[in-house]
Amino acid sequence: MDELELLVDLHSDGARQGPGGEHETRLAIELAGLKSKNGLKVADIGCGSGASAMVLAKELDAQVIAVDLFQAFLSKLEASASQHGFSGRVTTLEASMDKLPFEAASLDVIWSEGAIYNMGFENGVTAWRRFLKPGGVLAVSELTWFTRSRPDELDAHWGKEYPEVDTAAAKLAVLEKSGYRILGYFPLPEHCWMDNYYRPTAKRIPAFLDEHDHSDAAQAIADMEQAEVALYQKYRAYVGYGFYIACRTEDP
Ligand code: SAH
Repeated sequence: MDELELLVDLHSDGARQGPGGEHETRLAIELAGLKSKNGLKVADIGCGSGASAMVLAKELDAQVIAVDLFQAFLSKLEASASQHGFSGRVTTLEASMDKLPFEAASLDVIWSEGAIYNMGFENGVTAWRRFLKPGGVLAVSELTWFTRSRPDELDAHWGKEYPEVDTAAAKLAVLEKSGYRILGYFPLPEHCWMDNYYRPTAKRIPAFLDEHDHSDAAQAIADMEQAEVALYQKYRAYVGYGFYIACRTEDP
């Protein structure tokens, strides 16, 4: 297995593949004002094994199209949708977020938790806007600076890994200039990282290493996960995920 396949293998058994939480998905739904709407067409982009898609299917009167690049995640999602009785409301689509097959102005909602970084925030919100109906909702979580300055080590790390990291004010400005009206913002609380994502991932690592005979490649993934947790714990006051909720403006 190459590095990407190993990563998918480590993460596909998880309930989620990035930081987030059921309560936080519901909070974003509230801020988006979606509870009173009927017959919604929703795309969850970079859905992974379906943590948010399942909440959307449960909370909304909607058809949810769960999109991911990897069938391994979509298969897990299909199994849990059927287990929870949501098969009729959730369909899966194996596609890349930068080549989505949707028609212009065909979606009521675009949801994306912890995934838009794969094409970049500005790129993503710009490209996805045309798929939304005017007034349609965009809800995305994205790496965000929580303070106006940071320790050098942290700046250097994310400057290399994801140079588009910025403050909430800057991300909101990107949304406004890209043709969205802001409906809400909140930072994801720490338990979304530690309890919901990092600790469950860490628990799976020993079995993952056994399965791959402690290969160098598998060990490198385990080390990388550990380094990421250590960095988060050291600097969680400065950086985390922000949840951005906006809607497409009426102008073309
Ligand atoms: N939304 C999920 C997964 C977040 S992890 C959650 O919150 O748990 C990021 C996800 O983006 C992964 O499932 C990964 O497979 C997916 N992804 C990565 N690149 C992608 C691309 N180009 N197109 C679609 N999905 C992609």
